[in-house]
Amino acid sequence: MSDASQLYVLQASDTRITQLQSQIREVEAALRGDSELDRSRVVAAAATATRHSSEAVAQAAEAEMAALDARIRSLDRRLYDGSVRNPQELLEMQHELETLRGRARDAEDRAIALLQEAESAADSERATVRTLEEHEQRRSGALEPLRRRLGALTADLERETTERESIAAGIEARNLALYARVAQRRQPAVVGLLGDTCGGCHLPVSNEERRAVRAGERIVQCANCDRILVP
Ligand SMILES: [Zn+2]
Repeated sequence: MSDASQLYVLQASDTRITQLQSQIREVEAALRGDSELDRSRVVAAAATATRHSSEAVAQAAEAEMAALDARIRSLDRRLYDGSVRNPQELLEMQHELETLRGRARDAEDRAIALLQEAESAADSERATVRTLEEHEQRRSGALEPLRRRLGALTADLERETTERESIAAGIEARNLALYARVAQRRQPAVVGLLGDTCGGCHLPVSNEERRAVRAGERIVQCANCDRILVP
């Protein structure tokens, strides 16, 4: 195998290592937390808070309605129990009673509307809690497969790292250093010829250099982008 081809094989191993590392990071992030589940928790908590405040407002409206009813009953009693005789006073009481009855009707309408709101808030809360429970179930079902996947990926990474070491052991130090230098600036560092152009930057490669790449006698780098060329 030519020096450049060895570097190409090394690069393939590096690519697999990078992929495995990023897959491991993803699985580790998934094991740490579940953003969908977190969102469900926030939504369910907000629905519960809304239901609580709807209920409080509805209860206050019911209490107001009850207080008005009590005042109406007591005024009504006094009006007809004969304790008040003054016609002017009776007229005022009658007037007050009408006003109170009007307010009581409004209060009742408001209380009914607020109770309906509280009921629909309770419905929404139940729906969000159901969704949350589903997510929690899915999450606990997903944890074990995620742990298994992490174990398999970690084993793959160890294997690939060992494989890379043995590939690197067969490569001359100066070629390894060249590869590392190019790989720092260009990815991928080793590319094939694409017709008569460099597979990395797509600019033409001279006849003489193309011949040298195919012959594999020495490492040829693209004159434009510096990448190491393979046939
Ligand atoms: Zn190039």
